[in-house]
Amino acid sequence: MATNANADTGHRSPGAEIGVIGGSGFYSFLDDVTEVRVDTPYGPPSDSLFLGEIGGRKVAFLPRHGRGHHLPPHRINYRANLWALRSVGVRQVLGPCAVGGLRPEYGPGTLLVPDQFVDRTKSRAQTYFDGLPLPSGELPNVVHVSPADPYCPRGRRAALAAARGRLWEPVDGGTLVVVEGPRFSTRAESRWHAAMGWSVVGMTGHPEAMLARELELCYTSLTLVTDLDAGAEAGEGVSHEEVLKVFASNVDRLRDVLFDAVGELPANEERDCLCRNALAGMDPGFALP
Ligand SMILES: [Zn+2]
Repeated sequence: MATNANADTGHRSPGAEIGVIGGSGFYSFLDDVTEVRVDTPYGPPSDSLFLGEIGGRKVAFLPRHGRGHHLPPHRINYRANLWALRSVGVRQVLGPCAVGGLRPEYGPGTLLVPDQFVDRTKSRAQTYFDGLPLPSGELPNVVHVSPADPYCPRGRRAALAAARGRLWEPVDGGTLVVVEGPRFSTRAESRWHAAMGWSVVGMTGHPEAMLARELELCYTSLTLVTDLDAGAEAGEGVSHEEVLKVFASNVDRLRDVLFDAVGELPANEERDCLCRNALAGMDPGFALP
């Protein structure tokens, strides 16, 4: 565990207040970045945390797939990632990710800030409340946390305002369907997702958002459409190469939006959203990091 872990009310200065889960393209050019290794009861997170400052706000960056992008979506230790961020003081998380568009109008370069997700993953540890003891001996209670509105309303407003400020008109709301991966969808799956009215498809949005909620963290998803999913286009289907190319060509402006969104977020102690009290009235059975 990080030695500078503290609670909302702690007197020691936190290592970070805001977390960004995304690749090195988001922090590599910051002047003063400190690499911090953090361990958790669930094992190590995807990589070190990289702590830096944006406009006076302390931000922890965590490469979701590890530096060098070696972790496929289903192998990411999501529990360790969120736990590690919280343990250094993070209470609000921005989670940019690449997605496929399920409607022709959501083409490459679309920025969509979802307000719902659908879980179609299969094999991931998706809760801290799994009845298994922690290495500390603490036993998590049976706790049911509501994901009815899975994303932080305050964080969503910050992301939308930041995008508009950069003249990148975002799609406000929509449903992110999260598939297991690492394969893309068949045309039949993709058409089904679209027919259900869902907006974009990705591989990492769950359980990331839900685990954040279980730790009373604010979580905001920013999805960047890198391709039209198989059912929404007439060509050969999605290629990994195409995804990387579109992501690379948008990473600079996505970083600008993320940094502006950081500045729009409230101080941690001034959070007034549902996320902060996600466990109100429930005893998790263990101390949050
Ligand atoms: Zn919130």
